[in-house]
Amino acid sequence: MRTLDDLDVKGRRVLVRADLNVPLDGETITDDGRIRASVPTITSLVERGAKVVVCAHLGRPKGQVKPEFSLRPVARRLGELLGQDVAFASDVVGDAARATVDTLQDGQVALLENLRYEPGEESKDEAERRAFAERLAGLADLYVGDGFGAVHRKHASVYDVPRLLPHAAGGLVEAEVAVLRRLTEDTERPYVVVLGGAKVSDKLGVIANLLTKVDRLLIGGGMAYTFLKAQGHEVGNSLLQEDQIDQVRGFLDEAGRRGVELVLPVDVLAATGFAADAAYDVVDATAIPADREGLDIGPKTRELFATKLADAKTVFWNGPMGVFEFDAFSGGTRAVAEALIRSDAFTVVGGGDSAAAVRRLGLPEDGFSHISTGGGASLEYLEGKTLPGLAALED
Ligand code: ADP
Ligand code: MG
Repeated sequence: MRTLDDLDVKGRRVLVRADLNVPLDGETITDDGRIRASVPTITSLVERGAKVVVCAHLGRPKGQVKPEFSLRPVARRLGELLGQDVAFASDVVGDAARATVDTLQDGQVALLENLRYEPGEESKDEAERRAFAERLAGLADLYVGDGFGAVHRKHASVYDVPRLLPHAAGGLVEAEVAVLRRLTEDTERPYVVVLGGAKVSDKLGVIANLLTKVDRLLIGGGMAYTFLKAQGHEVGNSLLQEDQIDQVRGFLDEAGRRGVELVLPVDVLAATGFAADAAYDVVDATAIPADREGLDIGPKTRELFATKLADAKTVFWNGPMGVFEFDAFSGGTRAVAEALIRSDAFTVVGGGDSAAAVRRLGLPEDGFSHISTGGGASLEYLEGKTLPGLAALED
């Protein structure tokens, strides 16, 4: 994979595909982690005298111009972080985009409007996607792929544009891929993976693949209840993926056959409802009352998971252990995060919500070896899939 250093960028228009998909509350950015992560690559291009044209998506406007998904607030924040103005183009590849790019001087930066305002960006129709990619490529001389959070998408700005322009991987993509290699090749053992979060279905593929690689798999969060149910326990109103119980039962068997330690919660906070102020009791994971729902792992589980992490040499953590957005149910996520911070293993946090949880709980980001900007992308890499955006950069 060519890197930034391989491109001669001085005086050239460089299209940077970044991942600026941040959570917004109205026009307020509630977590600017992804913007900050994209700054080093842009700064390096600025310092080398490129005309930098940044493109990115925000949310899911599905091919339509929807003002609530405008990247305008992101342009402002990016400018603050770069310490220089970022010109904002009010369309993606139209008159405004062309005019904005035309006025760029060497070392200046522009941001195009939300790529997903254009139906061609995500189109499954190759010709439609390609036509949009050509318009986007027409705005620049060179391409830098740095939107790690989107490299698992076969989208025009990720997959087609690098086939039309001389290209390189940006510093963020390079760093993320180096970390993922350490999690898949010659991994230092014991290798422990902690999975949580809301949906088992998103993570089934990765579980199947991880069972062939890890020494221990700790399961918490909403997905734990499908495992507990598969073992025959009552889970009350807890999150449950009925249709995946059989597959999960298969994982339990396979872990046994392979000698992988699969560790489930032994106690949970069983709440009367899904609310920040819901009353709750600590109950054994095998004795959840039928009218309760588990919203966090309990104190014994927190200790158990910490013990199972203590001797690890490599740890990957994806998915919160409970509904961390509610203070009362954030303790399990905090406990796992603190166990990783204490550990001297190579520790990687993947997943948008897991990374947001670390920041929300006020934990030091530098307590981890790496916090990934891409949840879906890292999971698909760990599943062993080919990521379209990486494949295109490698060509
Ligand atoms: P990530 O983005 O880190 O991959 P996910 O998107 O899979 O994580 O899941 C995050 C969500 O899971 C959070 O919003 C959290 O509230 C929710 N969650 C965690 N545990 C539970 C639970 N026991 N019941 C319901 N939701 C849960
Ligand atoms: Mg998420």
